[in-house]
Amino acid sequence: MKKIAILGSTGSIGTQTLEVVRENGDIQVLGLAAGNNIKLLEAQIREFHPKVVAVWAEEKAKELRDNVRDMDVKIVSGMEGLIEVSVLEETEILVTAIVGMIGIRPTIEAIKAGKNIALANKETLVTAGHIIMPLAKEHHVAILPVDSEHSAIFQSLQGSERGALHKILLTASGGPFRGKTKEELADIQVEDALKHPNWEMGRKITIDSSTLVNKGLEVIEAKWLFDVDIDQIEVVVHPQSIIHSMVEYVDGAIIAELGTPDMKLPIQYALYYPERRYLPGERVNFATLSQLTFEKPDLETFYGLQLAMEAGKKGGSLPTVFNAANELAVSKFLNRKIQYLEIPEIIEACMKQHKNIACPTVDEILSTEQEVYEQIESRW
Ligand code: NDP
Repeated sequence: MKKIAILGSTGSIGTQTLEVVRENGDIQVLGLAAGNNIKLLEAQIREFHPKVVAVWAEEKAKELRDNVRDMDVKIVSGMEGLIEVSVLEETEILVTAIVGMIGIRPTIEAIKAGKNIALANKETLVTAGHIIMPLAKEHHVAILPVDSEHSAIFQSLQGSERGALHKILLTASGGPFRGKTKEELADIQVEDALKHPNWEMGRKITIDSSTLVNKGLEVIEAKWLFDVDIDQIEVVVHPQSIIHSMVEYVDGAIIAELGTPDMKLPIQYALYYPERRYLPGERVNFATLSQLTFEKPDLETFYGLQLAMEAGKKGGSLPTVFNAANELAVSKFLNRKIQYLEIPEIIEACMKQHKNIACPTVDEILSTEQEVYEQIESRW
């Protein structure tokens, strides 16, 4: 029996992880954590019988405690609670499917406690990759990518000599606004941006996919996961999302991972790595697949991607500024407080104003996040 805990169990990745658990029947879920959705958490507690469950606000934790009085489960809250779930003694793998930089501290504590990390929470690597990757090495723990592109790269690297890697070809669907000009994006409404052509995801990441900021975050994530320079990562727009990413070796050979868009594949691969398990679902059918197409990304219209590359190259606290500015800008857009095109504008303004810290500590990362939030609140 594999033993896991999940941060963000009520979200898109969290619920799909639990589907994988349900379908396989040989994984024990020892811990769960979520923000607000105590109704779904209660259902998860009753189905999966975890030992410890964290809810962010104590008020909600108290309510959940009352609701599951008949169950043998400890309900905890706040950052302490998140960390308690992350370091549970018997857990082998922590799935970090929480959204935002709040994932940094629990991930660090889990690594120190020797847990392998199935990592979906990209913000952790984007902002603290320089802390996470050496720490994982020191504690001999694996960081197993859950993001479909990074899982594809990870799969394409299996069995090959790492020194032979020449570059990473990170595919992008291009989002719902591929081919549009900046002028055409001026009137984009929340509902339009929430329609992703191929993937069903959480709201924030769906907006990030439409602006290509998500691809930018993935570029920085790939830099840390696979120890490459930003210049070794090429973004390739591939609207069908059949090729989930590729690697090119020094001899010119390109290896790719293909499949129908289903996050359960990378989640299951991370949970059972290096074993492959049967996964029910649609398969790629080459007889009916009419075409696979490729384009260069439009970095002028979707310049959030360009800004991410700049942040990734300069490093330090700049990726935190990029990420934090985007997080708040997206939340303002979702709350109809700003226009769609203001998202990259806000990111750019914050990056310009920031004095880069070369190798920030966790405290410096979190204070940079706060500074960015204050700066945005005072201007927008
Ligand atoms: P969702 O918004 O669907 O879910 C986020 C989860 O985090 C929810 O369970 C939410 O709880 C929980 N959460 C939020 N704040 C807190 C908090 N303060 N304390 C505890 N839990 C909290 O996001 P996704 O599943 O889409 O994404 C999760 C992460 O995975 C992100 O970093 C994203 O970039 C990454 N990712 C997602 C992919 C996808 O297909 N969705 C693909 C690749 C990466 P609640 O809802 O109860 O408030």
